[in-house]
Amino acid sequence: MAGIYLDSNATTRPDPAVVEAMQPFLEASFGNPSSVHSKGQAARHAVEKARESVAALINATPETIAFTATGTHSDRMAIAGLLGASPGKHRIVTTAVEHSAVLHHCRYLESKGYDVVRVGVDHAGHLDLDAFAEALNDETALASVMLANNETGVIFPIREVAQMAASRGIPLHVDAVQAAGKLPIDVATLDGVQLVSLSAHKIHGSQGAGALWIRGGTRFVCPFTGARTARDIRVGTENVPAIVGFGVAADLSRRCLEAMPRVGKLRDQLELGILAKNENAVVAGDRARRTANTTTICFGGLIAEGILIGLSERGVFVSSGSACSSGSIEPSHVLQAMGLPQRQTLGAVRFSLSRETTSEEIANAIEHVNVVVGRLQVFAA
Ligand code: PLP
Repeated sequence: MAGIYLDSNATTRPDPAVVEAMQPFLEASFGNPSSVHSKGQAARHAVEKARESVAALINATPETIAFTATGTHSDRMAIAGLLGASPGKHRIVTTAVEHSAVLHHCRYLESKGYDVVRVGVDHAGHLDLDAFAEALNDETALASVMLANNETGVIFPIREVAQMAASRGIPLHVDAVQAAGKLPIDVATLDGVQLVSLSAHKIHGSQGAGALWIRGGTRFVCPFTGARTARDIRVGTENVPAIVGFGVAADLSRRCLEAMPRVGKLRDQLELGILAKNENAVVAGDRARRTANTTTICFGGLIAEGILIGLSERGVFVSSGSACSSGSIEPSHVLQAMGLPQRQTLGAVRFSLSRETTSEEIANAIEHVNVVVGRLQVFAA
């Protein structure tokens, strides 16, 4: 069953061109890029070519891109590397709506004595910039702020955030995992941003490769190797097939950015079709300033897991809040931070489209959602 896949913020289908490019590196071209012989050097060449492509996605230079295992790995390396460079400073400023990749690590750091400030958002999901500015002090080792939220798609004003951090001399890490491929990112114009995290499987690459961009000259100390440059923070043998796929995915994403307005129209169509039939349904967050592919719809009075299961049985794949919290009925921390009532947060379903989504799929998804939700409402009444 192919189904209707609307969970692209959890992971995307690897593009056929990605799979084709990866294939040789799972077969005859299996060399280790650290080997001196020609098989190894062929793998090294492929990794370096992919580095150029990933760099081009954010208008960076290849030597500033480090490959990692995942977006989570990039986020944690970024935070650890900045902390390592400022041993006397103990404050970390982040937001209440970051992905667990950042927030769980911050919770761990808190247990080790760090002072973590999680800046809040308003009802629409927008960052409280005054509170952000106030949180920055001389003890602050780093700030970590996402570019686009994985649950609502809401885009943070990263330029303003970066200016605030830079004015206090504080390095800023940006989690751009959900922004890449959906928004143009040009690090050359983002003064004050020192590090950017990316993940291959969110942009039609394969699982198993992430990247961390580190601006040249950034004070950064890799926690494992003590390395100070992006190129040297790799720990162990690279995942060559996944990195090769990441390069192809990055090239495609750059060229396919123009598909995003069409994706945005499909997302709007989905919202309209669902809201028209469900008076208790509301869209979470600002509907204007967000990524084109994402919407979280709160079905007031229902439990999202019931909707997910009902839709899955009909071949429609979505998630509740972030994928990492699926399987648990804890309300999403993002929606809670936005101040949504529990009646809505418990019924929050995230629909995330991709450039592959068709209008026919959206029309069918609307019907399935309305049937599943209609039935659950009868039980809930
Ligand atoms: N950051 C954000 C905003 C995400 O949405 C995700 C994954 O959903 C991650 C980081 C983690 O990426 P990965 O799944 O590659 O570890």
